[in-house]
Amino acid sequence: MNDIADIAIVGAGSAGCVLAARLSEDPGRRVVLIEAGRQSQSSHVRQPNQWPLIWDDAENWAYSTKLQAGLALRAIPYPRGKALGGTSAINAMIAMRGDPMDYDHWRNLGNPGWGWGDVLPYFKRLEDHVLGPSDLHGTGGPLTISAQNSPNPITQAFIHAAMACGHRHNPDFNGAQQDGVGLYHTTIRNGERCSTAKAYLEPAMGRPNLHVIEGARALQIHFEGDRAVAIDIWDGSQRRRIHANQEIILSAGAIDTPKLLMLSGVGDPLTLQTHGIQVRHALPAVGMNLCDHLQTPVVFALKAPLATAPTSILAEGGLFVKRAQALSEFGMDLQFFAMPQTPVPIAARGVAPAMAISVQACRPGSRGQVRLRSSDPLDAPVIDPNYLSDPEDLALQVEGVRIARKIADAEPLAALLQSELSPGAHALSDAALGVAIRATSTTVWHPVGTCRMGLGDDAVVDALLRVHGLRNLRVVDASVMPQITSANTNLPIIMLAEKAADMVQLAWP
Ligand SMILES: Cc1cc2nc3c(=O)[nH]c(=O)nc-3n(C[C@H](O)[C@H](O)[C@H](O)COP(=O)(O)OP(=O)(O)OC[C@H]3O[C@@H](n4cnc5c(N)ncnc54)[C@H](O)[C@@H]3O)c2cc1C
Repeated sequence: MNDIADIAIVGAGSAGCVLAARLSEDPGRRVVLIEAGRQSQSSHVRQPNQWPLIWDDAENWAYSTKLQAGLALRAIPYPRGKALGGTSAINAMIAMRGDPMDYDHWRNLGNPGWGWGDVLPYFKRLEDHVLGPSDLHGTGGPLTISAQNSPNPITQAFIHAAMACGHRHNPDFNGAQQDGVGLYHTTIRNGERCSTAKAYLEPAMGRPNLHVIEGARALQIHFEGDRAVAIDIWDGSQRRRIHANQEIILSAGAIDTPKLLMLSGVGDPLTLQTHGIQVRHALPAVGMNLCDHLQTPVVFALKAPLATAPTSILAEGGLFVKRAQALSEFGMDLQFFAMPQTPVPIAARGVAPAMAISVQACRPGSRGQVRLRSSDPLDAPVIDPNYLSDPEDLALQVEGVRIARKIADAEPLAALLQSELSPGAHALSDAALGVAIRATSTTVWHPVGTCRMGLGDDAVVDALLRVHGLRNLRVVDASVMPQITSANTNLPIIMLAEKAADMVQLAWP
């Protein structure tokens, strides 16, 4: 009986846990949630300052990108969450919505119902916000959004140095304005990570109409004509078929959702045929339009390290800046993360003690793709974000490094720093900075867009997140973003899933 559902959801990540919890609120609806990972008891997941230790853990798919031409031919490690909570169980817990105009832009690209006025109620519904209820914030929602009460003195020095450079103090980057410097709000509850597993799934786990299959990989979707009807899974010991009377929802994330569609014969016919996969439905945009944020850590040796609290998210401080000569139509151009201890890629090279101000272009123009490596579902996909292929992205990183250096030169931060370790004092010209940025930048782990929402040939789903040309199949995760949001992606994806749950309930009352 457990293998027959009304709704089958693939992936218990940021989006999937929300969907499973919301859709099983109606006891008459049978929901099956299929997740490759398991519930995690790891302190690397639970304790906020241990998140960078997740690298070799079972909770990480531990992918890697293709060699990146724009990054000095380096392959970039590409962690994705593999546990209940998905990537919300391994992320850095920064709570950001992005710019309200991000969503008006989505709507203007041909996606009715996705403007800021449409999505704000869902952002409010998902949160239990430390600032209390207001026009912009909600309380009583499943996800705790908290403040950082004991930031590291280095982070505080960063904030004051940025203010000395003319940036205004911003107490809430999800408030009326995104610009300025301040502390990030976090997805932490009582000192521990609040993933979507904790916030949404755990309270729903006891429902008899919700069946969570852990440690099971979805292998392929089955169709009757143009209707998705079932999904094959490998549960560790046997191949099973889960039937869905109403819908299958793919929430496997921006890397694995397009992979699963392609394995099921939905994608670019030529590519599918190359791998010997029978074409079920031609949809060349599947896996295309991959967009990710890139970060360049500007690293400084510290005169003396100051230990971070166990509740620290490490990337404690933030700054949003609009360029003087703004090229974009809206929003901030650059986001910064102030990290009071040695950042992960630098720590891997054994350099310590250090702090970093990491620079990220908010809406990069570079686009890449996710492709199949083979027709074997157990093979990792080919991930090619094609970083810095848009020259404007490099120009923004260069400008960001200069802004970070200016802040590091200002008091009270300057007094705590010894010297710049990376890119290094030698890198002064645009050309030298460009070389250093290509040699040292890495992902911010925000892949989106590989099953883009929209109407044209470059789209995979419509504004109700239904796969074009097929029935009873939706995608609800980072893949559907038509354009990356101007900050971290977890909250926007949870919002997407909250809204999608309403869409499914309307379709199947
Ligand atoms: C190291 C790191 C730090 C980050 N920090 C932040 C941050 O501070 N703030 C922020 O806003 N964002 C952050 N992000 C990004 C954010 O967490 C992700 O964008 C978001 O969690 C993605 O949600 P999703 O639902 O699209 O996918 P996921 O949460 O990745 O969920 C996909 C789920 O599907 C499962 N799955 C995949 N394939 C299969 C299959 N074939 N069968 C069964 N199950 C499958 C996976 O195991 C996973 O549980 C970070 C990401 C990383 C990696």
